[in-house]
Amino acid sequence: MTKPVDNATIKKMDRDHYLHPFSNLTEMKQVGSRIIERAEGVYLYDSDGHRTLDGFAGLWCVNLGYGRDELSAVAAEQMKQLPYYNSFFGTTNAPAAELAALLKEVTPPQFNHVFFTGSGSESNDTVVRMVRRYWQCQEQPSRKVIISRKNAYHGSTIAGASLGGMGYMHKQDEGLPMQYVEHIDQPYWFAEGGELTPEEFGLERAGQLEQKILELGEDNVAAFIAEPIQGAGGVIVPPASYWPEIQRICRQYNILLVSDEVICGFGRTGHWFGCEHFGVEPDLMSVAKGMTSGYLPMGGVIVSDKVANVLVEKGGDFNHGFTYSGHPVSAAVAVANIKALRDEGLIEEAASGSGAYFRQQLQLLAEHPVVGEVRSVGLVGAIELCADKQSRDFFPDRGATGTLCRLHALENGLVLRATEDTMLFSPPLVISHAEIDEMMTITRASLDHVAKCHGMN
Ligand code: PMP
Repeated sequence: MTKPVDNATIKKMDRDHYLHPFSNLTEMKQVGSRIIERAEGVYLYDSDGHRTLDGFAGLWCVNLGYGRDELSAVAAEQMKQLPYYNSFFGTTNAPAAELAALLKEVTPPQFNHVFFTGSGSESNDTVVRMVRRYWQCQEQPSRKVIISRKNAYHGSTIAGASLGGMGYMHKQDEGLPMQYVEHIDQPYWFAEGGELTPEEFGLERAGQLEQKILELGEDNVAAFIAEPIQGAGGVIVPPASYWPEIQRICRQYNILLVSDEVICGFGRTGHWFGCEHFGVEPDLMSVAKGMTSGYLPMGGVIVSDKVANVLVEKGGDFNHGFTYSGHPVSAAVAVANIKALRDEGLIEEAASGSGAYFRQQLQLLAEHPVVGEVRSVGLVGAIELCADKQSRDFFPDRGATGTLCRLHALENGLVLRATEDTMLFSPPLVISHAEIDEMMTITRASLDHVAKCHGMN
């Protein structure tokens, strides 16, 4: 591919004109950006000639790895045949219909329908609209409140950011969270479990859902939404007692259960969907990211028969949708991506192949003096950096150590993410054992660097 302009010009255009998402806009004017030029498999190549192992699959999304020619070929072909048409006004296109049917094959049995969106945030906006419409159709319009959790991430639109429990987002907008959204505490045992065992703590945090429903009055509660494993919050894997209790409470009070599968979906946990890892049966699932492995933007809400039957039989018009709902090129890429995940056995790989090796190797790092806990499921994991393993005390100036570790890894050829002092791992599902070894070697060196900086070795 020919370069339109040289790197210095790209950096200047970027610095002068591009306001980046979730970035320090003040700092970026000084520091500028790193240009990623191309990628292959699990590796990124930047304009300074560095090769970096992407331990984060882009932004938790490139499940199939980079450089898959069949996905670009399908996109090019679909672009020539039908680059765009809408799904409004009684119209469809072949890739969108095929994708809807294929999703039925890979989702749990209660799901037979999908509503397409352009992103995870749009999916969660759609959840809000759909859940409220469902209760209207059931002649229980007072059921409006959606209960979510602190430190959850559900997107960046007004509804997504409201459902999310990120204080640093709410702080920047007095309109957040919007009306009819309530938050309970998260099941983050390492940071908040105190003297309770993980199992006791899981029950205590799930019990907050019941308390909140009773406080609000069950006739006012529409749904509970949660990520099976909180991703951006810090790969928080709840204690085993948590999800069964949440399921029991939702059933007892007739609350719709929404699983936000934007990160956990499409194989990340060694199952097609994260709820399956925990044996949970949601009524709705929001999806995006791994649906196309990030090759094109696309999302959706997967709808159970319980909800779809009401919307279809009683609902009539559903006045909601997006220009790009069921986009034919995105849908064609999603079909090719899902077939590749299925036919190459990548879900099984995440469960018992490379995933098992990843989990075993990550666990070895638990012995390191700065590591307080290692968590992992499938091919997603976290390392808690802390000053004292026994008391689980974090280092002073929480967040600074995570940044130290992340930057050291990056300088040595590995992209990791840090949420405060929690190091997060989410590599493409195609990662090999040798690439996992490389990831662990760099990670161990970064942990040594952290220990040295804190005078611990
Ligand atoms: N839900 C979850 C669990 C997510 O992690 C994200 C994105 N990281 C979203 C929703 C929002 O997705 P998007 O950025 O595609 O709008």
